Amino acid sequence: MNSVERQELKQNIEEAIEAQKTLITSLLETSKPVAPDNAIGRLTRMEALSDRAVSEASLNAARHKLSRLENALGKVDQPDFGICVNCDNPIPPGRILLMPEATFCVPCAEKD
Ligand SMILES: [Zn+2]
Repeated sequence: MNSVERQELKQNIEEAIEAQKTLITSLLETSKPVAPDNAIGRLTRMEALSDRAVSEASLNAARHKLSRLENALGKVDQPDFGICVNCDNPIPPGRILLMPEATFCVPCAEKD
């Protein structure tokens, strides 16, 4: 990976972090506790509670992804970042964005 590619990857990770933060903010809005005195009836309240459970699961997933991206951003300047630990080939940037913790290239990960 040359320095231009590294810079580009860094920027892509930063953008992915921002997108993740935006997602978390909007999920926080939808996972607010359901007010017990909500005059929406019992069934609707149960639906609201189940929607909330879904939002919390998405929220946890989004937070997890964010910490993986931040971790990757912290390592992006290291010479071996983005290099497969198995075969020394570069890991495609698209894969790093999808799986920031990836240390194998696609063929090596599939061999595993
Ligand atoms: Zn490899």
